[in-house]
Amino acid sequence: MTELKQQLAGITRERFALDPEACGDRQLYQALLALTRRLAEERPAPVGERKLYYFSAEFLVGKLLSNNLLALGIHGQVRELLASMGRELGDLEELEPEPSLGNGGLGRLAACFLDSIAALGLQGDGVGLNYHYGLFRQQFAGCKQEETPNPWIEPESWLIPTGKSFTVPFGGLPLKAVLWDVAVPGAYSGCANRLHLFDVEEPAGAPEEGIAFDKTDIAHQLTSFLYPDDGDEEGRLLRVYQQYFMVSAGAQLILQELKERGYGLEELADHVVIQINDTHPSMVIPELIRLLTEGGLTMDQAIDQVSRTCAYTNHTILAEALEKWPLAFIEKVAPLLAPIIRELDRRVRETCPDEQTAILDEKELVHMAHMDIHYGFSVNGVAALHTEILKSAELQPFYALYPGKFNNKTNGVTLRRWLEACNPDLTALIDGCIGDGWRRDPARLEELERYAHDAQVLSRLLAVKQSAKERFCGFLREAQGVALDPNSIFDVQIKRLHEYKRQQMNALYVVHQYLEIKAGRLPERPVTVLFGAKAAPAYVMAKHIIHLILCLQALIENDPEVRPWLRVAMVENYNVTWAERLIPAADISEQISLASKEASGTGNMKLMANGAVTLGTLDGANVEIAQLVGPGNIYTFGTPSDQVIRMYDDKGGQRYRALDYYHSPKVERLVDFLLSEELLRIGDPLCLAALWRDMKGKDWFMALLDLEEYIAVKNQALRAYGGRETWARKMLVNIAKSGYFSSDRTIRQYNEEIWRLG
Ligand SMILES: *Cc1c(COP(=O)(O)O)cnc(C)c1O
Repeated sequence: MTELKQQLAGITRERFALDPEACGDRQLYQALLALTRRLAEERPAPVGERKLYYFSAEFLVGKLLSNNLLALGIHGQVRELLASMGRELGDLEELEPEPSLGNGGLGRLAACFLDSIAALGLQGDGVGLNYHYGLFRQQFAGCKQEETPNPWIEPESWLIPTGKSFTVPFGGLPLKAVLWDVAVPGAYSGCANRLHLFDVEEPAGAPEEGIAFDKTDIAHQLTSFLYPDDGDEEGRLLRVYQQYFMVSAGAQLILQELKERGYGLEELADHVVIQINDTHPSMVIPELIRLLTEGGLTMDQAIDQVSRTCAYTNHTILAEALEKWPLAFIEKVAPLLAPIIRELDRRVRETCPDEQTAILDEKELVHMAHMDIHYGFSVNGVAALHTEILKSAELQPFYALYPGKFNNKTNGVTLRRWLEACNPDLTALIDGCIGDGWRRDPARLEELERYAHDAQVLSRLLAVKQSAKERFCGFLREAQGVALDPNSIFDVQIKRLHEYKRQQMNALYVVHQYLEIKAGRLPERPVTVLFGAKAAPAYVMAKHIIHLILCLQALIENDPEVRPWLRVAMVENYNVTWAERLIPAADISEQISLASKEASGTGNMKLMANGAVTLGTLDGANVEIAQLVGPGNIYTFGTPSDQVIRMYDDKGGQRYRALDYYHSPKVERLVDFLLSEELLRIGDPLCLAALWRDMKGKDWFMALLDLEEYIAVKNQALRAYGGRETWARKMLVNIAKSGYFSSDRTIRQYNEEIWRLG
């Protein structure tokens, strides 16, 4: 018996008094989880002069069983062991719930970063909250999104109890933060870091119905949900409670570990670096200052240490996403921080009197990002274009003050999850061509270009894509009873539902194509437009857009004339697991945000690495993708970002007016289709009318601006799909150039230019 089998048998005998062969799938899954967790937990932590703490409100880690087996280097062995018992790893993985610790690109980025930090053997832990019910689980009923809790913590989970806890000094109710860890084993490095997740001592059970709960019951509900509805004051306060809970406990953990490593508080910046992922963790700055002064440092010394310890990543230029909290909230939640924030603001005003760069504004709102920039040593954007916009527009006054702090770190994704694990057939094809050296050095994927004219490789690439499409169809049929045509073109838009991402523009394309087919103008080849997206529960317009998409899906499903040529499908509860199924199957990657609004995107990177060809605007990292693959291997369109920025400006008379574009003859009938008899028979007239009114009267993210060009360029891409070998070459070039977007590259840059972990 192999050592691995002995270890597994040790667990199944102890827990279930059974040999592994005699276990049911669930027992075997639990035993394998326990074994994997232990092997990861036992790995040594990396060593270094400085230790990184990556603070983030979300970590969208995805299922961890396969991922961790791969990182531990025993994935193949476990698969064989299971096969020898007539079992399949895939079946066991089906039983694993996906952790509800994040919701979108920001959280997924944090998860990819933890994976790369550990793989590179760098000393760096994540710090976040242990949400019990996540954002929500999405269900469709009556062509609408419904929200229910998304529990994931079972008696057997990845959570390791640490026995550590810290008291968070909330005003009026000090609360204990209990620390749970998830081990993060690194591929190749032999080490493991930790994801530290803080929780309340006595978490509340799930709400009986929906996701409403008592938002004032802080002691029990603090870690129930990610981003609780901030439509009322209680919800906004709860978010501040969550943030302070995370950073206060995290800061105390950092200082405890600093002491254990034998260093004094006055050496903090030499041995610790904190990356603040977006503004949710910004209160770590005043909290650390508080703890350092409490520990005997002067205010000057504490500010100096903290300012050399903290670095800030900006993820958005959307004004509504840059957090500003009333100081009164902080006085209530974290009363010890309010005087520190006032002092930080006073010092800023002493040296820079410009009101635009103040921390506290005249309404006594605390601008969290401003605090990060003044009292951190680094400010980075997440794609070249995004960083340039920060410097020239959004954060221009800060760039003038601190040009040396600004730097770019173009996002990346871990190809271990987003290629090796989710697309084993493509991985095998790549290995067969260029060997497996690209796994440790993803830039070597470029060697694939040698095969750009190899007809055999190109046809195998098409075959791999075809089988991924068939596999996806199987998953969707199983989950939602929708049977798609795997021979149609899979046009995929998967990402959070937001007006700036312009799913509504894609929906209007569907309307256009529907009307064309109805008019007897058939396309060369059938197309399936696939969506995956959750809308924030309080984001009314986003929910209307989901309603529109689901109505179009229903309309076409019941139309035998259109259905053979055009299908629409929306996966329910889009998450990492669905992304792993959809991405290998995508032919076209929809990245159609309004230029300047998508900071980077990472879905674009995952899709290109799996051989999807991008149809996109020159926004975020699409710009860098376009530069890398060249104009023949991407479809770009749309108004450029600098022009868009001017169109938001009142000055110069270039301001965007939706109505001007609505009145173009082609556009008007597409928008008006929202109020057509066909659609009103299926949908909710109030929702559709509200969306129609918004589209023609406001259209804040300018979907109508780029609509006609979008339709034309999309049709070009769909026609090009027919030239199979030429298309396969585009796929190959995209895969070959995706190495740049490995998060290993991103993390090396963070380490060399910001963290210097040593
Ligand atoms: C990658 C990913 C995202 C981010 O997608 P974008 O297209 O970059 O917005 C969101 N959700 C999930 C589940 C992902 O895997």
